[in-house]
Amino acid sequence: MGVSVSILASGSRGNCAIVASACTKILVDAGISGRETFKRMKSLGEDPHSLSAILITHEHCDHVYGLATLAKKLRIPVFMTVATQQAWARALRNENGVRPLLEKWERFESGHSFQVGDIAVKPFTIPHDAVDPVGFTFRAEGIKVGIATDLGYLPVSVRDHLRGCDVLVMESNHDVEMLRVGPYPWSVKQRVMSRVGHLSNESLANFFTNDYDNSATFVVLAHLSQENNHPEIARREAEKALAMRGGLFQNRVLLASQNEALAPICL
Ligand SMILES: [Zn+2]
Ligand SMILES: [Zn+2]
Repeated sequence: MGVSVSILASGSRGNCAIVASACTKILVDAGISGRETFKRMKSLGEDPHSLSAILITHEHCDHVYGLATLAKKLRIPVFMTVATQQAWARALRNENGVRPLLEKWERFESGHSFQVGDIAVKPFTIPHDAVDPVGFTFRAEGIKVGIATDLGYLPVSVRDHLRGCDVLVMESNHDVEMLRVGPYPWSVKQRVMSRVGHLSNESLANFFTNDYDNSATFVVLAHLSQENNHPEIARREAEKALAMRGGLFQNRVLLASQNEALAPICL
């Protein structure tokens, strides 16, 4: 069956993806409601109860909104770093200060690989304004998948982790000019544009032009801003940059959406 990647939702209103091998199925982030996660999985012909584990990149609401419900319903291991788990639990305290419990919390540390079934997972630190944010690479059956969203820029360490990926899910958050003239208050604009904010189309294009190894069969543009970007602008920027490296024919560019699941990419 090989390895597949499905993006159930992507953007500031919720992120959720599935990376699967023949015998292991990982949910990456739980940023849409439990009900919506089930609905979108079923729309792809996937059984939510076949999930093996949930992995969380960071504690921002658009990555954990459905976590408590999904963990309770599915009773599968949830992998988070200690700092992320604490930040998540702190945010969900009730009026008596009681924090929610994760029945099957598995802790991991950035930089240290771990195994979920037959999928080898490598978490790596990304520059973002959360307590301990990570991106992931996944390896199974000779295929490598990289996911890097929610990052202000692409440090050398992150670029290194993303080498040799067959599927690359990359943030293409905003068009700098649209953000600059757009409706956000200046403080929010500054946050998005900062080194711990979100990756612009331009920064991603810069990576494709200067430092990308052309390895991916599929490049997925993800976490697009609905106010400060347009799917066709993001696509055009990415394709232009990939073409400059002669890589456009090797790389199929796909766009992840906020409102509907992207059909599974199968390798
Ligand atoms: Zn996010
Ligand atoms: Zn975030």
